[in-house]
Amino acid sequence: MKRDKVINIEVSHKEIVKRLSGRRVCRNCGEGYHIIFNPSMEDKICDKCKGEIYQRDDDKEDTIEARLKVYEGQTSPLTDFYKKKGLLVAIDGVGGFKEITEKIVNAIEFR
Ligand SMILES: [Zn+2]
Repeated sequence: MKRDKVINIEVSHKEIVKRLSGRRVCRNCGEGYHIIFNPSMEDKICDKCKGEIYQRDDDKEDTIEARLKVYEGQTSPLTDFYKKKGLLVAIDGVGGFKEITEKIVNAIEFR
């Protein structure tokens, strides 16, 4: 398959750790929260079912760092590969969902 473009959504290491380490989930109903972006009304208590909200092991900072190391090791050769072919489009992944979606759509349509 021919590829016209490869989109790379770039988010700093620090921002990824902040986003992932803030995630929380309800032990009872599975509802997702984030301590900064989407906190529950009461600390550690689910808004929906009053169950306990906790942090999954794979959202803990040490685990995130380890996951990022693997990801970065495997991904940087790939981004270099597409960059050399002139196909790589870097998108700044910091911002709201709508804003980033627009950036991606623009990159696909106009380049
Ligand atoms: Zn719940």
